[in-house]
Amino acid sequence: MERKRIYLSSPTMHGKEQEFVQEAFDTNWVAPLGPNVTALEKEMTAYTKAGYATALSAGTAAIHLALKLLHIGRGDIVFVSDLTFSATCNPIIYEGATPVFIDAEPDTWNMSPQALERAFEKYPHPKAVLCAYLYGTPAKIDEIMAICEKHHVPYVEDAAESLSSTYKGKHTGTFGKFGIYSFNGNKIITTSGGGMLVSEDEGAMKKALFLATQARDPARHYQHSEIGYNYRMSNITAGIGRGQLLYLEEHKARKQAIYKQYQEAFADIAEITMNPLNPDGDANNWLSCMTIAKGCSVNPDTIMDALENENIESRPIWKPMHEQPVFADCDFMPHHEDGSSVGSDIFARGLCLPSDIKNTPEDMDLIIGTVRKCFTDR
Ligand SMILES: *Cc1c(COP(=O)(O)O)cnc(C)c1O
Repeated sequence: MERKRIYLSSPTMHGKEQEFVQEAFDTNWVAPLGPNVTALEKEMTAYTKAGYATALSAGTAAIHLALKLLHIGRGDIVFVSDLTFSATCNPIIYEGATPVFIDAEPDTWNMSPQALERAFEKYPHPKAVLCAYLYGTPAKIDEIMAICEKHHVPYVEDAAESLSSTYKGKHTGTFGKFGIYSFNGNKIITTSGGGMLVSEDEGAMKKALFLATQARDPARHYQHSEIGYNYRMSNITAGIGRGQLLYLEEHKARKQAIYKQYQEAFADIAEITMNPLNPDGDANNWLSCMTIAKGCSVNPDTIMDALENENIESRPIWKPMHEQPVFADCDFMPHHEDGSSVGSDIFARGLCLPSDIKNTPEDMDLIIGTVRKCFTDR
């Protein structure tokens, strides 16, 4: 019999989710809204200490609404992380605005404050700075926010990958004007699909709800003065989220243990470096990643092929946005003065290791052994 596949990061359910979903069926709260949605928002604000939260159909929808609420439109410039998933920047294009990609820095793999400073010299009036926290690691948030404040530009946090990560004791997603979380299938907790927008601004969040529910004016008949969206989370989905939220801290602890185990297992192989963690933060280690030393004969493809041969899923690092064909016309601000890109270097030398919290000790041994063999059998 073939051994089961080892996944990168698949949903982990506990049973409690089904109780909330069952309750929704029993009370016929199957349609959008309902008690699970309200409760999930309340539980998320209690957990993250965000002021207000709105549950949505996706993290991408939350980013889109954040940009709408900042009145970003045609011709506006948005400074955005370059080394991230495309969902971070696609909503900029939905609004006809122009992304300027800001390179990563080597210390946390997140937005480089140096590259951001240089972007402000070239484009003094962007409408927002949108920063993703890669693989769950917080960025140099103080440095980035100081630059944003100096230029009076709102800061938006794509915390899709970093739910439960903290920076100086405070939850990622609660620093900026808006924060967004994702409950997509592979994230640290999932609702099968969904997202959340958080903010301290009560008025803006009322507007978010209005836009997310088709922008109906307060009238008995259907009247619209603005274009709306169907972005609300359903009561069934929210039930799954409520169940998952109970286990978020447990998931985080297990993700952190996976990272530690890899770090210790590869400590004696000089060519392997784990993804850096911010010493000012406590990362959720959503995905554990490694890079291979420059000039080493092993490359990420060798390792990914070796893992695939054992039916183990791994994944390249996100390909930087400035290298994507669809964004070929967009400007890019590199971290280094010489124009070389930190993100491109991480992409070329790195990969994401299986970080599924259901991995058994035997699974971990197999993954580690397979990676080690790539370096020892040369
Ligand atoms: C997953 C992810 C998103 C999108 O979230 P969805 O809920 O899938 O729409 C956005 N940004 C980053 C960095 C992500 O990893």
